[in-house]
Amino acid sequence: MTKLYGGMEGGGTKFVCAVGSGPDEIVEEVRFPTTTPGETLGQAIAFFHKYNLSAIGLAPFGPLDLNPASAAYGSITATPKPGWAGTNVVAAFQRTFDVPLAFELDVNAAAFGEYSWIPENRRLESLVYFTIGTGINAGIIINGKVTHGLTHPEAGHIRLPHDRKEDPFPGTCPFHGDCFEGLASGPALARRWRKPAETLPNNHPAWEQEAAYIAYALVNVILTLSPQRIVLGGGVMEHQPLFPPIRGKVRGLLNGYLASPVLTGTMEEYIVPPALGKRSGVLGALALAKSSV
Ligand code: ZN
Repeated sequence: MTKLYGGMEGGGTKFVCAVGSGPDEIVEEVRFPTTTPGETLGQAIAFFHKYNLSAIGLAPFGPLDLNPASAAYGSITATPKPGWAGTNVVAAFQRTFDVPLAFELDVNAAAFGEYSWIPENRRLESLVYFTIGTGINAGIIINGKVTHGLTHPEAGHIRLPHDRKEDPFPGTCPFHGDCFEGLASGPALARRWRKPAETLPNNHPAWEQEAAYIAYALVNVILTLSPQRIVLGGGVMEHQPLFPPIRGKVRGLLNGYLASPVLTGTMEEYIVPPALGKRSGVLGALALAKSSV
């Protein structure tokens, strides 16, 4: 009999939970809004409890304590989201389930999902997945494993060149102002241009500027990590016309310095949309569950 796994992607606005054994073998999938920790985790636990699962992958929004040696392992740490700071997700599940529980940041799960379930990615050793939406963050896969460090990487908050004459917008990040997320997240676009990003027409100057900020960020990542593929997901990246100018600007900024044919060509196979679409996170959580047993 095929083993069943659970995968939970816990976002700031909604949770997605799935039971199955792979992207094409999903038995049931549900989504519900993120309210209080008690109610939302309770709904997830009740959903998974109906099944005989071999393991569950839990991938909530962060920041998280991912250090198994820490007393707060399994918790969401300093989130500004009311009621959620200090919530121990793993402990809540341990009270009901006696199976392995994988615990990972949502964007790391998305990176692992793209890596694990997509055969062309599986042949690589490294991949970076950026989510560019309500927030910005990156999951980094090196040697086939999700990268952790002191805590977890937070590449959405790297600093980018910001010409304040050309773009006087001060940024939206409460910690850094004009970091990558502060300049280029969905809320930053909405506040700078005074309308939701998805309503900006294709020829609006916002998109050229957005492509430029994303290209700066990618060049920093390419020069530090040398990933073999970069996947760009999240709500802002659903605007597909962003891809060609991002690739062009990355090529321009690198200026032929790195001698890889991947970087001097069209980069259509290098900077790509998520192969799993919007399901990278929940399917990544499922992959983490599967790899935990
Ligand atoms: Zn920041």
